[in-house]
Amino acid sequence: MTPGTVYLVGAGPGEAGLITVKGLRCLRAADVVVYDRLVNPQLLREAKPEAELIYVGKAPDRQAFKQEEINDLLVDLARQGRTVCRLKGGDPFVFGRGGEEAEALAANGVPFEVVPGVTSAVAAPAYAGIPVTHRQWASSLAFITGHEDPTKGPSALRWEQLAGGVDTLVFLMGVGRLPAIVENLLRHGRDPRTPVALVRWGTYPVQETLVGTLGDIVEKAQVANFQPPAVVVVGEVVRLREKLRWFDTKPLFGQRVLVTRARAQASVLAELLREQGAQPIEFPLLRIVPLDFQARLEELLAAGFPFDWVLFTSANGVTVFLEALRKLGCDARVFGGVKIGTIGPATKEALAPWGLKADYCPRTFVAEQLAAEFPEPPQGLRILLPRAREAREVLPRTLAERGARVEVLPVYQTVREEGNVPAIQEQFQRGEIEVVTFTSSSSVRYFRELLGEVPLAGVTIACLGPQTAETARQLGLSVDVVAEEYTVPGLVRALVQHVQRGKEHG
Ligand code: SAH
Repeated sequence: MTPGTVYLVGAGPGEAGLITVKGLRCLRAADVVVYDRLVNPQLLREAKPEAELIYVGKAPDRQAFKQEEINDLLVDLARQGRTVCRLKGGDPFVFGRGGEEAEALAANGVPFEVVPGVTSAVAAPAYAGIPVTHRQWASSLAFITGHEDPTKGPSALRWEQLAGGVDTLVFLMGVGRLPAIVENLLRHGRDPRTPVALVRWGTYPVQETLVGTLGDIVEKAQVANFQPPAVVVVGEVVRLREKLRWFDTKPLFGQRVLVTRARAQASVLAELLREQGAQPIEFPLLRIVPLDFQARLEELLAAGFPFDWVLFTSANGVTVFLEALRKLGCDARVFGGVKIGTIGPATKEALAPWGLKADYCPRTFVAEQLAAEFPEPPQGLRILLPRAREAREVLPRTLAERGARVEVLPVYQTVREEGNVPAIQEQFQRGEIEVVTFTSSSSVRYFRELLGEVPLAGVTIACLGPQTAETARQLGLSVDVVAEEYTVPGLVRALVQHVQRGKEHG
């Protein structure tokens, strides 16, 4: 069998967007992904659903794989004819032992390619506002391991040259050996006033930066109990952080935000939160389950789809309804001259992939408004309302009161999702969640059912709209944020404003 190719891919330093385009392509195409501890787990979702994921990093319950075992594994997998993505933190050839893996592949005649990555040695300082070189402050740069191969005997590092001859020094794996690093630099003549920064979990929303000088950083790190993984940056460029900080000053930086929407819809909210510096914790409390309404749909089609309007109240409704049409071999032409109304921009946007557009989209996104502002007199109009089974009656009732003939067609229901409840409970108990977001009444109800007892003092409760907020209050939650615009971006904006106000008031 011809062996598969092994791609040695740099995953980047953490933040999932920092993998390269080519790296992502390799990850998506791979049959097997072999990954390390410092790879962002979020990236693994990019692998094919049927791809095998093999973790070869350290784990609490067992020894780390030995390098030879990893090398053999890569050779074996490739010999099975499979395409292998060897996903490594940062850049595969910067203190990643990628060189050794490539040697093993070469020695065994296994074809391989290297996809360089964004190394933490550059990215972690960058996210702390520290450029590793600067026209005025640093013309040379060294990447140095803080963790030398113990079998190599006395230090292979030429401390004299490093201390005296290189402007910016970036140490990886250096936290544990910080005292020795500092001592060596001082002993070989580096000025004790030289600024030093430790950047931990760089590019992640939990990034932490500690700044000091060669004279005091060891003590500061001790006092702060500073833990790995971190890079140690030594040099004048560290001073620029004061001016150039940009990431850890984002409005929601450091906020851990529970995202309770259905998994399929959580990613948009999570991404917007991440853009503002928050750390989204995805904990879907519900799932969308399409109902079987095929028989009724067939009847309606046989009758020539006898409606003047179809009103969608959610993006889910659009998707489920049009999927059902497709299954029956139909497409958007079914709508013909039938007009379409939508509540909310997300619902309107959900039409686009089906080649449809909304004729009516009220400015505020509540049922009452839609009925009140209806563009034609409802008298005599035939209106189809495909929506959730457990929706409120206001909309069909109001329309019917005005003389419309409304058919409510339940097309999906939301059911409670039972995720890892104990893990989230524990996070609440340890005070590790600052914000909880609710985007629907059902998510509030399921939260109360599953997590009723967790301590919520000091936790910010943010709701997408007045309806959700009302449900939350009825269930005894004290609501801090209600979006003015009832959309996911509106929710994030409102949360940002709330947190900023809190900061201003100390
Ligand atoms: N090949 C990787 C480095 C692997 S060695 C790269 O190019 O980034 C592992 C060391 O990298 C850690 O001990 C730490 O010093 C550094 N490191 C990796 N990810 C980091 C991150 N997100 N923030 C800070 N340091 C990180």
